[in-house]
Order: sequence, then C-alpha cells, then structure tokens
Amino acid sequence: MSTGFSIHKMMMDRYSIAVFMMISFLVGVLNASEGDSDLHYRSCLAECEETGCVGDQCFRHCNFPSDGVLVDGPWYMKEPLYLKWKQWECESDCRYACMTDREKEREERGEEPIKYHGKWPFKRVLGIQEPASVAFSALNLAMHLHGWLSFVNLLYYNLPLNQDKKAYYEFASLCHVYAILAMNSWFWSIVFHTREVDLTESLDYSSAVALLGYSLILSILRSFNVRDEAGRVMVAAPFLAFFTTHILYLNFYNLDYGWNVKVCAIMGVAQLLVWAIWAGVTRHPSRWKLWTVVFGSGLAMLLEFYDFPPHYGVFDAHSLWHGTTVPLTFLWWSFIRDDAEIRTLDFIKKIK
Ligand SMILES: [Zn+2]
Repeated sequence: MSTGFSIHKMMMDRYSIAVFMMISFLVGVLNASEGDSDLHYRSCLAECEETGCVGDQCFRHCNFPSDGVLVDGPWYMKEPLYLKWKQWECESDCRYACMTDREKEREERGEEPIKYHGKWPFKRVLGIQEPASVAFSALNLAMHLHGWLSFVNLLYYNLPLNQDKKAYYEFASLCHVYAILAMNSWFWSIVFHTREVDLTESLDYSSAVALLGYSLILSILRSFNVRDEAGRVMVAAPFLAFFTTHILYLNFYNLDYGWNVKVCAIMGVAQLLVWAIWAGVTRHPSRWKLWTVVFGSGLAMLLEFYDFPPHYGVFDAHSLWHGTTVPLTFLWWSFIRDDAEIRTLDFIKKIK
C-alpha cells in the first residue's frame, strides 16, 4: 500500500514536472522572437554564458565568481548589485555577439533581418544599443528645453506683468509643468535606448504615460478655456486617478505591454481629436500651427504601428518616429508662445 502510494506519488511528481516544463517551454516560445528561438543562436548564447567567448571575441564581464561573493576587494565589489550588473552586462554582450554572428550569416544568404528578444538587430555605437533613438531623443529634449526657455523669456521679460509681477497668461504654470514632464520623459528615453534593462524600461514607460496623460488634461483645459482653479481640479482629478493607477499597475503588478499600448494609443488619439476639433472651431490666429502639429503627430503615430527593420542597422521605425517629433516640438512651443502673447495682449486691451 505504502509502496503503491509512493510510486503513484512519484509518477504524479514526474507528471507535474513534465507539465510544468511543457508550460514553461510554451511560455518561452510564445514570448520569444523569431531570432532568439533559432537553435544556432541559442547554442551560441549558452556557450558564451559558460565560457565568456564567441569565436575569438571574449567578454571580461562574464568572469564573475559563481559563489557570488568576492572575498578581497573594496566594499562596492562585494555588493550583490555589482554582481548582478556584471551578469546583465555579460548576458547583453553575449546576446549582441551571437546576434551579430547570426545576422551576418543570414545577410550572406540574402535573408531579411529578424527580431531578437523583441528587438531588431541594431548596430551598437560606443556601446549604445539604439544610437538613432538616443540621438533623436536627445534632440527632442533639446527642443523642449529651447522651447520652454524661450517661453519663459517671452512671458517674464518681453510681455507686461501684473502688479504681483506675475504673467497674465492663465496657462503659464500648466505649461511649466508640461515642459518638466516632457524633458523628464525624453531624458529617460535616452537612458532606456542606451541600455535596456527592466529598471530603465519601467522609468521610460512611466514617464511617457505621465506626459501623455498630462498633455491630455492640458488639451481639455486649454480648448475649453477652463481658467478657475475649481474647474481645473474637477476636470483633472478623474484623469490623474486613472493615470496614477495605471503607472502603479505597470510597475508593481503587471507590465502588460499590450494593455499599455492600448492605453497610450487612446490617450494619444483622444488629445489629437481634442486639439483638432478646437483648431477647427477656434479663430485663433495661430491655429495653422496647431493643425500642422496634430496632422504631423497623427502621421508620425503610423510609424509606431508600421514596424520595419533598421536601415544600415541604425534607423528603424521607432527611431524615425522619435525623429519626426523634433520639428513638431519646435512648432508646438511656437504655438504656445503665440497663445501666451495673444491672450496677454487681449487681456491688456480689456483692462484699458
Ligand atoms: Zn523610444
């Protein structure tokens, strides 16, 4: 009886192990891209993580002690974080070397590039994973900084101020917050495209959601001309609650890409619609700038959906999408400056 039970139990254990392995294999395959499910790539990776070499190319990051403790050495060498970092570096170096090898073979056979771990095979420049996206993100950051500084210059040095030395433009502080969120978002985009790890990824995603959410609120407040504090709080509160929950959900519960793409797409399209409708009904003298930004952003969004492999190993759809927002950002801040000027002069006319 007892032997029968233990044999039965052993079989159950084996059965559950087999089921578990099947499920993890399936999950692995479903999560994988075409490139990293390739057997040659997989064996190259396994060998590299073992020996630290691919062909005659060897990586110093792969020589970390297996017991996890460095006995001699300064305190920061003993930190587990340091070892983890080396592990990441080793994995990333091996993946890159194996991917480059495989892609060279595929190119010789005249085959198109394929994705590895959800990413196109980019050429690294100075250790930067996606150089084009980094360069364009930096340009976007510079554009926002330039736009914001010229907005501040116009508001506080060129336009009249009220008795309290404050700007007449009612949307000034909303624009300052917008500028800070935009620059924050592009900063993390630079970091993320330079080196992709879980931490940089969630920082990039979270700041992008914050920026998108905030600009949706801004579009509603400006186009409906909501000027009093109570009205603004009423409009913003439900949105703020939703975005905060969404960011917390992504970071601490489940980084669900599909769901996040849907949320971001809805927020993006919603604010383009709000601006487009307003641009259609308003008599704002600079409405053509708004039209151009809305139309341009709509077209640019298509790049994000039409995902093509990188040209010259550098320019893929995502990086070009970051590229198109550079001139749009310039025009956008130019619209904000016009708006500030027009509203201030209108206000002065009224009080005279
Ligand atoms: Zn990006």
